[in-house]
Amino acid sequence: MEFCEKCGGIILIQGDKAACASCGHKPKKKVKLEASEKIIQRDTIAVIKEDQSNTYPIVQIKCPKCGNNSAYFWTTQTRASDESETKFYKCLKCKHTWRVYR
Ligand SMILES: [Zn+2]
Ligand SMILES: [Zn+2]
Repeated sequence: MEFCEKCGGIILIQGDKAACASCGHKPKKKVKLEASEKIIQRDTIAVIKEDQSNTYPIVQIKCPKCGNNSAYFWTTQTRASDESETKFYKCLKCKHTWRVYR
């Protein structure tokens, strides 16, 4: 939510145009910049979600399913602090995913 720098009213955004609902003040530059930043952030998140495994490092480990010797590797920390982290592997060949508890 954007607020008018002159009167503190709510800035209404329609497309790439923005104007204060109370006094009609137009903070054009600022709103435009923030709008483009939001689009970039949203795109970045979407890319990570869609193709997350490509960002993981590849390690040499034997896949228990197909015997391939390379897999993506990542870890997760469980919410409970007394529990150790879990290691995840995803086979490059058959996409089989398995985990290893420490
Ligand atoms: Zn205003
Ligand atoms: Zn495999």
